[in-house]
Amino acid sequence: MKMEIANVIVDVPAKQTDRAFDYLIPAEWSGTIQPGMRVIVPFGPRKIQGFVTSLKTQSEFEKLREIIEPMDLEPVLNKELLELGDWLTEHTLCFKIFAFQVMLPAALKAKYEKKVKLAQGVEASVLSEPLQILFENNLMIDWEDALKQGMVPLLLKEAAKGTLEVIYIVKEKVRKKQRKFIRPLVSLEELKVEVERFPAKAEKQKQVLSYFTDHFEPVELRQLVAEVKTTSATVKALVEKKLLIEYDMEVYRDPFEHRTFKRTKPLPLTNSQQTAIGPILNAIETNRHEVFLLYGVTGSGKTEIYLQSIQEVIERGQEAIVLVPEISLTPQMVNRFKGRFGDLVAVLHSGLSAGEKYDEWRKIQRKEVKVAVGARSAIFAPFENLGILIIDEEHETSYKQEEMPRYHARDVAIERAKTYSCPVVLGSATPSLESFARAQKKVYHLLSLPSRMNNQALPAVEIIDMREELRDGNRSMFSRKLLDMLKDRLEKQQQSVLFLNKRGHSSFVMCRDCGYVMNCPNCDISLTYHRVNEQMKCHYCGYESHVPHQCPECSSDYIRYFGTGTQKVEDELGKILPEARVIRMDVDTTGRKGSHERLLTDFQNGKADILLGTQMIAKGLDFPNITLVGVLSADTMLHLPDFRASEKTFQLLTQVSGRAGRHQLPGEVIIQTYSPEHYSVELAGTQDYDLFYQREMMIRKIRHYPPFYYLSLITVSHEQLMTVVAATEKIVNYVRSQVSKDAVVLGPAASPIPRINNRYRYQCLIKYKREPNMTKMLKTILDQYQKDTKSGLLVSIDVNPFILM
Ligand code: ADP
Ligand code: ZN
Ligand code: ZN
Repeated sequence: MKMEIANVIVDVPAKQTDRAFDYLIPAEWSGTIQPGMRVIVPFGPRKIQGFVTSLKTQSEFEKLREIIEPMDLEPVLNKELLELGDWLTEHTLCFKIFAFQVMLPAALKAKYEKKVKLAQGVEASVLSEPLQILFENNLMIDWEDALKQGMVPLLLKEAAKGTLEVIYIVKEKVRKKQRKFIRPLVSLEELKVEVERFPAKAEKQKQVLSYFTDHFEPVELRQLVAEVKTTSATVKALVEKKLLIEYDMEVYRDPFEHRTFKRTKPLPLTNSQQTAIGPILNAIETNRHEVFLLYGVTGSGKTEIYLQSIQEVIERGQEAIVLVPEISLTPQMVNRFKGRFGDLVAVLHSGLSAGEKYDEWRKIQRKEVKVAVGARSAIFAPFENLGILIIDEEHETSYKQEEMPRYHARDVAIERAKTYSCPVVLGSATPSLESFARAQKKVYHLLSLPSRMNNQALPAVEIIDMREELRDGNRSMFSRKLLDMLKDRLEKQQQSVLFLNKRGHSSFVMCRDCGYVMNCPNCDISLTYHRVNEQMKCHYCGYESHVPHQCPECSSDYIRYFGTGTQKVEDELGKILPEARVIRMDVDTTGRKGSHERLLTDFQNGKADILLGTQMIAKGLDFPNITLVGVLSADTMLHLPDFRASEKTFQLLTQVSGRAGRHQLPGEVIIQTYSPEHYSVELAGTQDYDLFYQREMMIRKIRHYPPFYYLSLITVSHEQLMTVVAATEKIVNYVRSQVSKDAVVLGPAASPIPRINNRYRYQCLIKYKREPNMTKMLKTILDQYQKDTKSGLLVSIDVNPFILM
């Protein structure tokens, strides 16, 4: 007999195990185990999880161990995604196991209970013999039980025919999504007989049974109890008498079930929209891969173009993925897609519980939906007939994942689109320099929407020099102009948005006498002040401490916290504009699920005059009554050790400004800054992307940064400073010996955050144009150091890094 052997990538993220291992498929599972399924395999003394990547009939090894059991009834990764996993491994230099895991919803990684049930619309009678009885008496059977009874091979055969399916119940969330349902366990005739036979004193039980003779179908326990006006104890009694059966119905946890979506129809496109959509539709119709950069200011009608392109894709029987940044995945955005395509849309974002996310993912896997809208990881939506991939706000840095696998969603989108021969649309009002440069070089096809809908003017922007305010004796965080305008809006009953740029501007504690700053004892970075519990926290290692009353250095009492948090702004607003109603949105007020949405709805319904917040309010807001946007401090990001600081500042200021005057009422924007002369602030003021692009490109060229050069960042860390320096030195020398003379190799240098969690950090930054051997060289470095884990030295490599810390 021919052997059946599976190549398995095991869940042991280490250099030595980063390859497929051969396992024998036991005869009982012959023909049922397929590539893309997860299996449990013996590994040393342990039992671990792995992914089957392919099957074969021969192995070079003599003695093979056997697969213990499959974890899935059907593959969780299709062929395309398995190949994409290889691509991810190669391009981000990650372990294979990470590449596969990142493509799956968290529920498949968490602890869960696995149950098997009949597929939708399938009767137990079609099953093979022993299973028939099992499924006639149970709606679901436990995987563990099935294993113990040796039923799994039978289940697998049925699953392959599509008659059975597995469902996962995430353990932590069990209570939340399990709904108790009740249905009759006997036939209608028997039930009628029972009702007659019941003693009169068991009035309530009789009523419950009568309910079922009237409606002979499952009903949720809650509803039954309410309708019959009884208790669950009464129902339980009937369950015990084996007349009724109670079970946990797996209902889709629909995070949007409480909302109704007003259906919308495609709008007649404007001339410029028509010009822009033409080439996209053409690529869809001719099944052609092409990357489009849709460059249009906020409010220019990009989303309508996405919607109508998707419409075309759906009509052709294909599927679409739309990525939007997590923070702009607002109800408003979701409404636009649900409003147009209704139930054909699955939404994936971090606000959902693991179970909800899994359900959305499963709708995609089962081909019940045609469109996936979500944040970064939605790029792995398991569609098999993609017709378009859209990335809105393509310049957003959150599309880059900062842990293994360090992928950029844009690259993944393009890779998948090549496989499916379909277009990618990148949309932005402020495209990343990389994308705009590619469009200039005709690598991407540039499509422009030059003006806002109905030619509404962009809001008037005024830049206020805060240094002058200070000179004139105004020590408040509000300039006189901004305060006047806030008052004006209050009188007119119009709404204002105040934006506080918090990134890179943590609130720290400093001694006013000696300048002592409270740092984390484990990391070389200042602690962040949290007023809620008067705590200082380290955002890198989690260290916490109380705010001291006296300076530990000089014993001065003048130790205070500095920096402007949203709470502080809110307090000050309360003093200077006590009549204003303020809604504050930041990590503290939006931590709970649904609170983000609730606050926005309140604001939309006019329950507040001022919306105050951080980055999370910069995007996606589209409320007609907002006529003023104030940016409290425009330049806090400019001083970060990041070559993209100017670009990010420009993008953010432009985004925020776009929140004002999107409808009938004209908008005004006030930008307060300490660096009014900086070109990124100045040009955000005139909203001149093209000029900004030219200026910034010049600087990037001179300083050898992307898009002129590629970057790779090697970070080395160890508890001993000497060890780190020595190892980095060695790496730098090796790199220098390998690259061409066009490449720039910087280092060894201390990382901008030189110590995290008591580990010293050094880095080597490589800037290069064309180095055909780069990947190979970087792999060699990883191989060298990842093999040697005992030394405690950690080497990580980020190809195309977005954070140089
Ligand atoms: P963007 O995505 O570029 O910010 P939107 O697609 O949100 O722009 O369009 C801005 C506003 O204009 C929205 O309220 C949208 O409904 C409206 N709009 C878009 N296209 C049209 C059109 N062809 N006709 C009428 N209104 C439109
Ligand atoms: Zn001091
Ligand atoms: Zn720390």
